[in-house]
Amino acid sequence: MQDAQHFDAIVIGGGPAGSTAARKMATLGLRTLVLERSRHPRYKACGGGVPARTVKLVGLSIEEAVEGEVSTIEVSHFGERSFRKHSAEPFAYMVMRDRFDALLLSAAAEAGAEVHEDEGARAIEVNATTVCVTTERGRYIAPYTIGADGATGPTGRWTGLGQTLPRSAAYELEIEAPAASLERWEATANVDVGYRPWGYGWVFPKAGRLSVGLVLSPGRGQSIRAETARYVERLGLRGASVSSAVGHPILYRRGTTTAIARGPVLLTGDAAGLADEFTAEGIAYAVHSGTLAAASVEAALGGAGQAAAQYQEAVDRSIQAELDAARAISRMYYRCVTLWPRLALWASRQVDYFWRAFFRVMRGEARYDSELKRWPLLRASTRVL
Ligand SMILES: Cc1cc2nc3c(=O)[nH]c(=O)nc-3n(C[C@H](O)[C@H](O)[C@H](O)COP(=O)(O)OP(=O)(O)OC[C@H]3O[C@@H](n4cnc5c(N)ncnc54)[C@H](O)[C@@H]3O)c2cc1C
Repeated sequence: MQDAQHFDAIVIGGGPAGSTAARKMATLGLRTLVLERSRHPRYKACGGGVPARTVKLVGLSIEEAVEGEVSTIEVSHFGERSFRKHSAEPFAYMVMRDRFDALLLSAAAEAGAEVHEDEGARAIEVNATTVCVTTERGRYIAPYTIGADGATGPTGRWTGLGQTLPRSAAYELEIEAPAASLERWEATANVDVGYRPWGYGWVFPKAGRLSVGLVLSPGRGQSIRAETARYVERLGLRGASVSSAVGHPILYRRGTTTAIARGPVLLTGDAAGLADEFTAEGIAYAVHSGTLAAASVEAALGGAGQAAAQYQEAVDRSIQAELDAARAISRMYYRCVTLWPRLALWASRQVDYFWRAFFRVMRGEARYDSELKRWPLLRASTRVL
């Protein structure tokens, strides 16, 4: 094996978290290596719903990866009692993750990061001031490593970070839907609720197909395929051609006690459990945490404090507060929907401010925690329920 190569930072994983961290660090002039075990464009199980707030955080044009936009949400309860709510402007863009992630990784390379695809991290050795990452092809040494290897990546296990996070199951189908279904869901997303204790089914419209899937709460993963099949049937899509069907966990960090950074290792995105328990989205938090990790590494290399402490503090302040508010809203909403479905669906149809607040959060004009502060009734119900 060749001698070890030296960098300022090594990023393990080239998804949205890793590509963003690498792009930011390379832009700041840091010698940055990305190790990605697959070759982009690669499939990633995901609804591909990119809220407008995520696009703002990305800070790049994602137009070439966008297959559609959504400004209407249709809420239903196991296919019944449905109603629609409209946002004046699109609140989310629909992408296929292979093209979206490839775009972000190319932007990292264009900014100057060295990108090694088809090269997964095999082992990591953490010393007092450096990390050595070994792959099948080489050894790489840097003062900092960013673990951006997703919900099933090894960096957390190897370092003891981000462990014991609750995980929900999610299952996604890409369906070549008939023309009538494509027309029905044009610019519209379905959110089908009622699963105990929480979870939802979704339809997201793409170019010529639909992403249909289900996310269920921790511990409910065994029934996810059967539940998804029932959902597909209710949508009238049984028998439609399915081009992929893949399940994948989503992890959730709750509160600030789980360590996600220590010494020279910083976990970002799904590896750190930074996903929202109301919508199960994670791309926004992957991008945001990648940005925060890059800033902390740059500051520490410049002699300003410790990267791990700065990063975790920044995540706790600017991301975790939002995730904890999303969890409170999620518990309140899904509990009402499962305990009193008729009343909850009727009330959520009537209470327009709930949807106005939701659209504001999705468009990046507000945050879950700021909306909770603004609406005493909503805040009170998250405490009571
Ligand atoms: C079914 C499903 C639907 C979802 N729908 C949405 C949605 O509509 N909108 C939304 O915002 N979020 C959604 N999410 C969540 C979203 O997919 C994640 O939050 C997001 O992908 C996190 O980005 P990441 O960069 O942290 O991790 P990932 O996107 O998982 O990227 C991790 C990368 O690390 C690489 N890797 C893994 N191990 C190694 C290794 N040893 N060495 C090198 N590389 C490695 C992987 O190949 C991968 O490219 C969904 C999740 C699921 C499971």
